[in-house]
Amino acid sequence: MSNGIGVGLIGTGYMGKCHALAWHSVKAVFGTGPRPRFVHLAEASEELAARRAEEFGFERSTPDWRELIADPDVEVVSITTPNAFHADMAVAALEAGKHVWCEKPMAVGFADAERMAAAARASGNVAILGYNYIQNPMIRQIGELIAAGTIGEVNHIRLEMDEDFMADPEALFYWKSEASSGYGALDDFAVHPLSLVQTLFGDPTRVFAHQAKPYAERPIAGGGRRAVETYDIASVLFEIGPISGILAANRSAWGRKGRIALQIYGSAGSIVYDQERMNELQAYRASGPTADQGFLTVLAAPGHKPYDRFIPAPGHGLGFNDLKTIECHELLRAISGEKARVIDFAAGLEIERAVHAMARSHDEKRWIDV
Ligand code: NAD
Repeated sequence: MSNGIGVGLIGTGYMGKCHALAWHSVKAVFGTGPRPRFVHLAEASEELAARRAEEFGFERSTPDWRELIADPDVEVVSITTPNAFHADMAVAALEAGKHVWCEKPMAVGFADAERMAAAARASGNVAILGYNYIQNPMIRQIGELIAAGTIGEVNHIRLEMDEDFMADPEALFYWKSEASSGYGALDDFAVHPLSLVQTLFGDPTRVFAHQAKPYAERPIAGGGRRAVETYDIASVLFEIGPISGILAANRSAWGRKGRIALQIYGSAGSIVYDQERMNELQAYRASGPTADQGFLTVLAAPGHKPYDRFIPAPGHGLGFNDLKTIECHELLRAISGEKARVIDFAAGLEIERAVHAMARSHDEKRWIDV
């Protein structure tokens, strides 16, 4: 890695561009670690691959992702394709001796997720998932407040993840409406709040879930309509030992643009956070005169590491792509053998286990032990 680290990027849609930007920013933001070399890019067609390689600054492009994985100059592979591709691409990359940064969810079926975790274990390489929200300095701060006992013993958590990109009944049927993408809100959305739960508290031990389809069919591009195969809404009760939890996920929630709302209640206070206002948290401490009690709003500042690597001024704010840059830096730290804040394939498998238990609970209409 003395001459930098060779990067391969598969997929250049929404997340592919976020990965490309993160790879471009990481050295300038953090200063340390290897400098990424933009070696090889794969897309679904030759024309798109060549165009994106020119835009993103990659040396080579291909419509065949296996060619990218066979490239000896590629040392780490970003996988940002639809969910159904993750398992085959990640396993092939790990077997070829590459490190992997794969978007969430891990895979569509649990057996594929297990296959990915096994390949990571066998390879000894670093394999992490794109759970970017755990990287927010404010989420780190929430973890520190809880660890310091600021709100006492946590007994109840509520999480909501809502967006409105599927809220319009006439929104087009696309890959996220197909069963080949997974269950829907559970594995597309609920996995993100679950990544926060895992990071802050551990994995759910028992779950009870319900999924719903607000619209039975959607128009297809080019004309006609098609039955929707995934659930855009999921509601879950869960437990983590003594902590009771509620998780709601909805891809058809008009007005919500990027809501990941977290409420944490403890014996001595509470903490409230929402990703739509990702540069602040609110904390309530049940101490002092009642006349002075109320939620304290804390704005992101250089003291909330690694905010300081981006901006020296408090209250100016980070954005979504900055979380991806932090995630990329943590990946590089893991590759260098340092302790990193990542959800690797072993930890990601536990999120998958919870999600599949939720889907089973919906089918069997009962509590399921995870
Ligand atoms: P997208 O449709 O915008 O992009 C997917 C890209 O993959 C497209 O450009 C497509 O042409 C390309 N592709 C498809 N098949 C390919 C193949 N065989 N070889 C190479 N390229 C191929 O989708 P997206 O919204 O970027 O989602 C991609 C992944 O990212 C999904 O797994 C999704 O769950 C995840 N995601 C994560 C976050 C997050 O916050 N971490 C947000 C959105 C999406």
